[in-house]
Amino acid sequence: MTNTLGREILRQKAINRPKRVFDRPQNNQNQFIKVSDYYGENVFDFRKCKTVSEKIKREMLSHAKQNKPIPREYVELVADACKDWAIGKGATHFCHWFHPLTGSSAEKHDGFLSFREDETPIERLSASQLIQGEPDASSFPHGGTRATFEARGYTIWDLTSPMFLSETINGKTLCIPTAFVSYKGDALDVKTPLLRSNNAISMEVTKFLNLIGEKEVSEITVTCGAEQEYFLMDKAFFFERPDLIMTGRTLFGKLTARNQQLSDHYFGSISERILSFMQELDHELYKIGIPSKTRHNEVAPGQFEVAQIFRDSNVASDNNQAMMALIKKVADNHNLVALLHEKPMSGINGSGKHLNWSMADNLGRNLLEPGNEVHSNLRFLAMCSVIVEAIYKHADVLRASIATHSNDHRLGGHEAPPSIMSVFLGDTLDKIFKSIMSGQTVEQIENNQFDLGANQLAHLLRDNTDRNRTSPFAFTGNRFEFRAVGSAQSIGFPLSILNAAVSSCFKDANAFIEKEISNGSKVDEVLLKVIKTRMEKAQNIVFNGDGYGIKWHEEAKQRGLSNLKTSADAYKFLKDDRSIDFLISSGVYKINEIKSRYNIMVERYNTYRTIEFNTFISLIDQFVIPATIEYKKKLIKVIKGYKDLALNNYSELKILEKLEALSAELFDESNKLKVELKGLPVCEEQKSFKIAHELMHQSIKMENLCNRIEEMVPDHLWKLPKYMDMLFVR
Ligand code: ADP
Ligand code: MG
Repeated sequence: MTNTLGREILRQKAINRPKRVFDRPQNNQNQFIKVSDYYGENVFDFRKCKTVSEKIKREMLSHAKQNKPIPREYVELVADACKDWAIGKGATHFCHWFHPLTGSSAEKHDGFLSFREDETPIERLSASQLIQGEPDASSFPHGGTRATFEARGYTIWDLTSPMFLSETINGKTLCIPTAFVSYKGDALDVKTPLLRSNNAISMEVTKFLNLIGEKEVSEITVTCGAEQEYFLMDKAFFFERPDLIMTGRTLFGKLTARNQQLSDHYFGSISERILSFMQELDHELYKIGIPSKTRHNEVAPGQFEVAQIFRDSNVASDNNQAMMALIKKVADNHNLVALLHEKPMSGINGSGKHLNWSMADNLGRNLLEPGNEVHSNLRFLAMCSVIVEAIYKHADVLRASIATHSNDHRLGGHEAPPSIMSVFLGDTLDKIFKSIMSGQTVEQIENNQFDLGANQLAHLLRDNTDRNRTSPFAFTGNRFEFRAVGSAQSIGFPLSILNAAVSSCFKDANAFIEKEISNGSKVDEVLLKVIKTRMEKAQNIVFNGDGYGIKWHEEAKQRGLSNLKTSADAYKFLKDDRSIDFLISSGVYKINEIKSRYNIMVERYNTYRTIEFNTFISLIDQFVIPATIEYKKKLIKVIKGYKDLALNNYSELKILEKLEALSAELFDESNKLKVELKGLPVCEEQKSFKIAHELMHQSIKMENLCNRIEEMVPDHLWKLPKYMDMLFVR
């Protein structure tokens, strides 16, 4: 660790970093080539593979969709093709790349190296190696889905997500996206339920569209684009903050006088060092076929965002997972550390991951894009009303789907939507829904059509600039934006819950429509009824005002909406049979799968928090208290000097007394936490409540004390990097 001059040395290091130049692809004339010329060069998508016939590809996809085994000879063709492609690019290994319930991705590498019968070496990838792997599942979280003796787990190739090469300076590995299931077929990962949820939506929404006369529709894709926020800081500071290393966030730290009040960072011009990082990040993303689109400074100093072009939600989820890993890797190349934690620094904005969400059909239409004629408008409005109903009915489970110990710090802060689920529709849509509910402007016009007073809806909404940033679930013109998702979490879980909620409400709506039509009602008339009935039931969840305001908390309470402030409060809905019924009936989760997720989430919450508490206690013992002792020693010396000269001393004595009072209080509070930690309940759920409702307050008390001490101790006696270093020195 650092000596008393340590922080100065760290700053010098950070300021004088050499600039990093990466190898931008060039042609033979040493000219830089266009992105479109190398985009996806490290991607292998069997659907584009020339050595496999179109007929075979179609059959493979349809087998996969129906969960039927794919003929071995077909898989062999793909295995050969992707192996040849990968080794042609210099890969030596392949891996099944999957997302267990740890939150990050997992990979076990196997060499292509094999031997012929005559023992000469050769590169090989067999059909069975491509399609199925068998990692030992016992070390991955399963939350009680199986006994330890059934430790076998299987990874199964996901045909619909392209393979890609992961590169390091010393080699390349072919990553094969896979699902991860137990011996009994239970989903041990994020992907499997997500795929099921996409199918559920496709089935119900296709049926809905067919019922209302749109017979050409045969398939729906959930589209998704995630906006990823992150912090960057110089590596030198990161490695001198044990709290950042252990927990991903600063457990205390005095906020700088200037932070984000001037709004001068958001969309500000990007510094050379950061832009160089972003350029390399984009380059790496392009190579593996992730269509990065926007990049900018975010609100907090040291905070940034990258967003990719939306695509089908399964691939988008894989992309986001790969993107998070790349952000970290490329940051490291630039001697930076990327923090994906939702609240690495307190007092300033945290990071989220806005999940833009919509549905497209096989005709290429975005189904949440309002149209200009009566029928398509009615369809659009009816679909919106069903989605609003889904959020209303399943708000608690949706809240639980984004509940992590780290996101708790952000939800309800001044930068993020509160932990109350609500839907923002904007004034235009709100007005239309209200008039439909009251029956006011809905007049029957010729040909049995209905005038909503909104035939110019698309036009109206396009012009509608109100974009409420304070809503956890907002309509933004042609999609919804689930804004409460945390920056560090995998989007697959919340997506699967959202999809399940929407599909189950479409299922109800479909039953309603079928009945109405069989009773002789006309389609548009039925759609109006769908809108009216759904919105009447669900309108309490619609809120277009300021979600950050304290007034909303009171109003939400009156409306009967939950405000689940901590993850511990939210998780319990995942084990409530009534709340999770829609997950089971939509076929997205099996009952034991969702219960195992509940177990895992509660356990992880407790583990993360315990690590935080222990790290905090040790930081106090090793850094904060010793710093106060150093300062007190100096003060006492000065005070003694005064006494020797028979002079009166005022300020040093006051400082000493104040510092002593603060450090004594901190010492006591920290000891209290130590004792509490020893006596935590054994039951994980009770433990989580105790942590969320008692120990977190204790920890905040300690944080405030540390901040006050940090402010008092002279800069040169403070060894830990400060917010000023971490946020401003690069
Ligand atoms: P903003 O910050 O203004 O919300 P960004 O451009 O940062 O907008 O991000 C918008 C995100 O929404 C992008 O990822 C974009 O691809 C995505 N998006 C746009 N249209 C759709 C859609 N139909 N379905 C899903 N995502 C979409
Ligand atoms: Mg954005």
